[in-house]
Amino acid sequence: MKRIFFFFIFLFIDCQAFVVTAQSTTDKQQTILIRLFASYNISSINFFHVSGEYSVYGDSTKLFEVDKISFISVSLSGDSVILQKPNYTKKFRTVRFVPQSPSSSFKIKSVQPDYKVRTYDDELQISALSKSLRIINKVDIEKYVAGVVQWEVGTNNPPEYNKMQTIVCRTYALGNWRRHEDEGFQLCDEVHCQVFKGKTFSQNIYQAAFETSEYIIVDDSARIITAAFYSNCGGQTMNSEDVWSKSVSCLRSIKDTFCIHKLDAVWEKKIPKDLWLDYVKTKYGFPVSDPLLVNKVLNFDQPYRKIYLVNDDFFIPLKFVREDMKLKSTFFTIREEGNDVVFRGRGFGHGVGLCQEGAKRMADIGYSYTKILNYYYTNIHLIRFSQLDFFKAD
Ligand SMILES: [Zn+2]
Ligand SMILES: [Zn+2]
Repeated sequence: MKRIFFFFIFLFIDCQAFVVTAQSTTDKQQTILIRLFASYNISSINFFHVSGEYSVYGDSTKLFEVDKISFISVSLSGDSVILQKPNYTKKFRTVRFVPQSPSSSFKIKSVQPDYKVRTYDDELQISALSKSLRIINKVDIEKYVAGVVQWEVGTNNPPEYNKMQTIVCRTYALGNWRRHEDEGFQLCDEVHCQVFKGKTFSQNIYQAAFETSEYIIVDDSARIITAAFYSNCGGQTMNSEDVWSKSVSCLRSIKDTFCIHKLDAVWEKKIPKDLWLDYVKTKYGFPVSDPLLVNKVLNFDQPYRKIYLVNDDFFIPLKFVREDMKLKSTFFTIREEGNDVVFRGRGFGHGVGLCQEGAKRMADIGYSYTKILNYYYTNIHLIRFSQLDFFKAD
């Protein structure tokens, strides 16, 4: 089994200290295997050349160079795939479109079923699964990270925010390197891992990925951290153990003054009183007919984040109330108003780790990405992943 060793020197980063160009990174390119269209049953695709050069391989044999104007298709046929182009049809176990230059990119169109065209960098590998094609993009990690940032947070963010987010997405990718190990690739392109529906066309994001090239976040024990994030904490983040079962040293509750005037800072939801009382009675056995106790669930305050709505005898965790009532966060008050109870809340998301709207505000007013990361994650360090011996197998 592959093991990660931590032979490295901590870099307590001075953000002036490095600027890595795209060229220098390509020289020591590290790639990642991403399964594309992971949750779709695709039986036929078309390949289109976009830039650079490509050679096509059937199994281990080099077949031909990609003709930039003709179209090539790959279709499922039992446990093999059929490669077709004008005047050419042949069956293989695996077909690969191998880039011959660092700028090689391609478009892929799912024909069966019919999906929108997507554009990717680097290599495309196609083989057969029982009911669909297995489509893999073998891509430079920095190009992958740039694509993920675009799909996860959009293109309209300040440069320091983009740098911060590229480090978070890179940390996530490396931290979950073995998630799909048994299936022969590292990550899928869905929410399950990180959304990656193609390369970024934002020069700003691309630049951010290459300026922070290889940087990932580790804790005091040199372990890659769980770089959790969400939209808005409402003014206070959560300890990891209060949301998930595990206490993690870098995921500590902090007061956040940066997000409280942003879009997701406040919310409100009204629920019929009968429905609410029936819920706490049925799920937690709460005595709703007791006139002294019922006020505990009809009027509730949370000046700072709490874990339970009621924590004596009945233990009603706020995280389950949030889930069951489909609330934006656990950081809410409750008021009885006529035949309803009104939840007035702050923030959006689980609240553990980095608050994106707070981070955006910090970037907007001049904080560096290292300051932002150190604000939301406790006792962390940035290192280059090449210092981890990460890609060497036993
Ligand atoms: Zn996945
Ligand atoms: Zn916040």
